[in-house]
Amino acid sequence: MIRQAVRQAVKILGDQFVMGRTIEDALSRAQGYEAKGYAFSYDMLGEAARTAIDAERYLQRYMMAIEAVGKAAGPLDTVHADALFKRPGLSVKLSALHPRFEPGKDVQLAAELGPKLFSLATAAEARGLTLTVDAEEQDRLEVTLDLFAQVFTHKSLAHWNGLGIAVQAYGKRAIPVLRWLRRLAERTGKRIPVRLVKGAYWDTEIKLAQESGLSDYPVFTRKLNTDVSYLACARLLLSHPAAFFPQFATHNAHTLATVYVAAGPTQFEFQRLHGMGEALYEQVVGPGTLGKAARIYAPVGDHEDLLSYLVRRLLENGANTSFVNRLADDDAPVAQIIRDPVEAAEQERVEGAAIKLLPRPRELYWPERKNSVGLALDNRFVRQELVEEMVAALQPSFAAGPIIGGKVSAGGIDDDLVLCPHNHMQRLGTVREATGEQVDTALVQATVALHDWDRKGVAHRGRVLEVAADMFERDRSKLMAVIVREAGKTIPDALADVREAVDFLRYYAAEARKLMSEPRSFRSPTGETNTMELRARGPVACIAPWNFPLAIFTGQIAAALVTGNTVLAKPAEQTPITAFLAVQILHEAGVPTDVLHLLTGGGEVGIALVKDTRVKGVAFTGSNETAWSIQKMLAERRSDIVPFIAETGGLNAMIADSSALPEQIVRDAVRSAFTSAGQRCSAARVLFVQSEIAGRTIDMLAGAVRALEIGDPFDFATDIGPVIDDLSQDALEAHKLRLQRAGSEIVDADVPEDCRTGSYVSPAVYEIQRIDLLEREVFGPILHVVRFERGHIDKVVDAINGRGFGLTLGLHSRIESVADYVAEHARVGNLYVNRSQIGAVPGVQPFGGEGLSGSGPKAGGPNYLIRFTTERTRTTDITATGGNVPLLVREIPEDD
Ligand code: FAD
Ligand code: NAD
Repeated sequence: MIRQAVRQAVKILGDQFVMGRTIEDALSRAQGYEAKGYAFSYDMLGEAARTAIDAERYLQRYMMAIEAVGKAAGPLDTVHADALFKRPGLSVKLSALHPRFEPGKDVQLAAELGPKLFSLATAAEARGLTLTVDAEEQDRLEVTLDLFAQVFTHKSLAHWNGLGIAVQAYGKRAIPVLRWLRRLAERTGKRIPVRLVKGAYWDTEIKLAQESGLSDYPVFTRKLNTDVSYLACARLLLSHPAAFFPQFATHNAHTLATVYVAAGPTQFEFQRLHGMGEALYEQVVGPGTLGKAARIYAPVGDHEDLLSYLVRRLLENGANTSFVNRLADDDAPVAQIIRDPVEAAEQERVEGAAIKLLPRPRELYWPERKNSVGLALDNRFVRQELVEEMVAALQPSFAAGPIIGGKVSAGGIDDDLVLCPHNHMQRLGTVREATGEQVDTALVQATVALHDWDRKGVAHRGRVLEVAADMFERDRSKLMAVIVREAGKTIPDALADVREAVDFLRYYAAEARKLMSEPRSFRSPTGETNTMELRARGPVACIAPWNFPLAIFTGQIAAALVTGNTVLAKPAEQTPITAFLAVQILHEAGVPTDVLHLLTGGGEVGIALVKDTRVKGVAFTGSNETAWSIQKMLAERRSDIVPFIAETGGLNAMIADSSALPEQIVRDAVRSAFTSAGQRCSAARVLFVQSEIAGRTIDMLAGAVRALEIGDPFDFATDIGPVIDDLSQDALEAHKLRLQRAGSEIVDADVPEDCRTGSYVSPAVYEIQRIDLLEREVFGPILHVVRFERGHIDKVVDAINGRGFGLTLGLHSRIESVADYVAEHARVGNLYVNRSQIGAVPGVQPFGGEGLSGSGPKAGGPNYLIRFTTERTRTTDITATGGNVPLLVREIPEDD
């Protein structure tokens, strides 16, 4: 019954906001409105395309719609430009036409998406219709403008004024974008129909900017400013009638009235969405009204395609800043609702009124700590500058080696070469392994230095870490360049690695201050004080993996240092140069050279450290095999029993039930499984998908994997770089062979020819019957899919638990009780609901597993630092030194 009621409710909502299930339905429903004087712009609903096939399907849908709308409208029998603007049109979302409509993919988009937009434009021209490019997220603004210009300036469309574009007034770049469009129009002698909107993705923009650590938001953060921007943009449009045909899309009566007055006799039209602003537009269209031209944006599509559109409309209607919402609120004073935004902004400026602003992305965690600085990689100039800096940073060859007491041993002729995983012919530098003697010297110094460092106090140590964090940001381009070349990470991954390292430094500094600034006092019997303080344990061995060569390496060291320990840092043998640079920065920031030592080398160096009884704690991240071996070595030591923090691998699953949207599942599964070529401990290895949606999801997954670009990670367009080395490549290929024999391949993309000199493994998806078929973690770009039957979520969770790992779990479901069930029963450290399962941020998503996946506590969490400390309690009998003074001088109340 509930199912039916919900279906009915969705249908009612669908009918309210969607013009028709098919273009034919929509065209026939439009007739009534056309009789009233409205024109139409039809939009084909759907999620962003995930695959080339989906994109092609959307293109065909648009093509058919152009045919149908053109046929219904009849031929355009005059060449007068104004006639075109009165005709129906179509609106197109570029994200529907290409699976990778993303910043940085300029070349591919110009070659693949440009021609598609061109073919739609040509078809629209032939039918005498207009075509408007919708505005999407701000990070797609540059690519949108590029594609628009590519088609707009095409010589075969030299006389057509029908290609329009939507511009978002909430974007801080709105005015520059309009100026740019004006120049484009002037250069070509054409007019651009510009649909001015305020913008539909405000909350998404804010979240993205915060996550990305941008210097500021790309959109205004106050509604008032968006309204002012809208009016400024409107004036700009209206004052250039030769360049623009302005189209004002709004449901706000005040905005509409202001534009109407400002426009005077200038030609323009208003636009509204189907299902919204009806009452307002009764005053705009038709006889006895303002009598202005108005157009309805008419979404067309089936119920299954309307979800994201519907959600945007519901959010818009529900937002308490929105005009339509406030109008419906009987308590909101009318004078407030129709307040002139320009006057209000001016008044605030003059009065210097206190305005509550959203914290800027970098102030998100302030005053506790700064957010790590990110980069607006969607901006071409930012990318260009970054690449130039990275190229320059790679000019000298690097010579890494042990740093003991600040003394570097490196650069000898016998040192090993450090080759790049993307191309084994390319060398990044050299590395020298630490000798047994050097390990010993480092341990002697670290033991002696301990007391002083511990006594320095947490305030000092925290400051040093914060200085180091700033220096990591100063040297960001160099660190990123080395990470890309040494670990084969893509540029966005390398940026994330630097940011995570910086976050660890600042977060642990802040946490240590909370924990260690003052001894903790306990309630005690009178005559006695009892306090407890946290102190350093001793020299700590920090043994790191290569897959986050900076972040994990730095995180372990930062935690040990800030709690007063001295550190023997052992990076992975594959990524010594990154570690070398990091240790140099930490020293420059003020970590004494006898407190932090770098011991480059392989497992033997790790073994030497772990076996040495002067080491009073081990922080390890890596494979289970190594963790077991360390545990055994520690157990065999006949000395103090020391803490061992082990963060190990996982057989991570993602579960998707039939309530989830395949587009969203696929987006997040691909991100979770293939980012960093699948070499993240958190990566999804097994996707459990409910059989009702399995077919569609698997097809889409295959298409999305085919759309991934494999290549040199230094290239922005690359999605998948190499795996770390040949050993790893061989293991992954062997795993694929086994799966291929079982005949379960869904997709295995091709590695381009020019990647043959590197350790590349193509991204692949296999279907398997049960997760039990996987014996161990598969550390690379291979995703396994298992189907499950409706009502069997419990069995899925049991099967996942049964493997004994417990690191990450992704869940895609819109049913809260399912999420609650999974959260209750899954034995995993990090559960991610309706998003990807990678990219934990220190202090935000404390990270770490249980069971076979790690000992805890979580890195970047509030309990991590305590493991690096020892607790010392001090009990003082104060009567022993001449009486209980506080008791004696205590004021005694009258009635005591
Ligand atoms: P108002 O209630 O006056 O404005 C609401 C808007 O103010 C929000 O949507 C947001 O943009 C802005 N806002 C709200 N809170 C804040 C804040 N705290 N700080 C800053 N700004 C804030 N949108 C697109 O993004 N791309 C399109 O291609 C697009 N096409 C459209 C086509 C038509 C015909 C119409 C009518 C709308 C279209 N929209 C598009 C949606 C449009 O952006 C929203 O409908 C519009 O923002 C609502 O504005 P309003 O003037 O009707 O309402
Ligand atoms: P690994 O275990 O091979 O090496 C990790 C580190 O241990 C390296 O520095 C290595 O030199 C050292 N080492 C190797 N043998 C040793 C020994 N016997 N004694 C002491 N030290 C020794 O792991 P890896 O290949 O570098 O990293 C990938 C693994 O790390 C994956 O399993 C991944 O899941 C795991 N990982 C886990 C997390 C997490 O947070 N849980 C994070 C990142 C990586």
